[in-house]
Amino acid sequence: MTKNLLSISDLSKKEILDLIEFAKNFKLGDGSFRKENLFPDKTVANVFCEPSTRTKSSFEIAAKNLGCSVVGFDISNSSVEKGESIFETVDALSLMGVDLCVLRHPNSVIRDLSDYLPEMVFINGGEGSISHPTQALIDLMTIMEFKESLDGLNIVIVGDLDHSRVTSSFVEGISNFSFGSLTFCGHPSMSTKYLDPALGKYEPDLDIALQDADVVMTLRIQYERFEETLDLDLEEYKQAYQITTERLEQAKGDAIIMHPGPVNYVEISESVYHCEQSVIRNQVANGVAVRMAVLSRFLSS
Ligand code: ASP
Repeated sequence: MTKNLLSISDLSKKEILDLIEFAKNFKLGDGSFRKENLFPDKTVANVFCEPSTRTKSSFEIAAKNLGCSVVGFDISNSSVEKGESIFETVDALSLMGVDLCVLRHPNSVIRDLSDYLPEMVFINGGEGSISHPTQALIDLMTIMEFKESLDGLNIVIVGDLDHSRVTSSFVEGISNFSFGSLTFCGHPSMSTKYLDPALGKYEPDLDIALQDADVVMTLRIQYERFEETLDLDLEEYKQAYQITTERLEQAKGDAIIMHPGPVNYVEISESVYHCEQSVIRNQVANGVAVRMAVLSRFLSS
């Protein structure tokens, strides 16, 4: 196991499976999580330089469930706002005794930071549109929970693919496993990175893409990552790419619907969010379990 979790590619297939197995142990049957005072001498800092609800809160809950102290770092009230670089900011936290830093940053700074501060453990909590390894673990865990095995599964990813670190990390993670097929569907201007057949099949027609799907992963339009203002008619976009109950009829009857959140109800309808096949809320709960497993493993290494 590497010292830091910077990318899902840092993990072997066995390490991915071990982390998912380990994460399951932290889930108690009643929807709560095991609490164990395993790391009372460790301090975790959540350094989030982009907005977050699920990732930030679940890392904090996970760390507290494991007995760690947590520094909930609010970037907008920090010296980063006074022009301090992220290097000095995280160095200061390290000098104060922080052992592990969960970093979310719009730019690729985490590798340089981990070289600059070799004593500290770094976990990537979201790196621009590049990677989000713990989300990939959550997504793989959730699929395995509902589908038992990945073998033969037809997986469809729909939405703003180009700006999605969730997609890039998922594609890297799933490449360790044998599955049926991987289909990408999205507006052509949001799918340019996914036209390479080596990654999967690009199918611009959602009704065709959904045929015989076992897993449907949906993504919001990530407006904040567009370099130019997006000139898009949302009604037309919904007509072409929104997952609705009617559209889901193309997929297999037991297909599961996933979404990393936050949901905008442009990419999926409210009835799909709440339908029986939706595992979106299970993904949120698995977020705590996966992050407990990741923190335990990386705090022990
Ligand atoms: N929460 C996910 C992320 O941080 C997905 C999203 O923001 O749309 O990448």
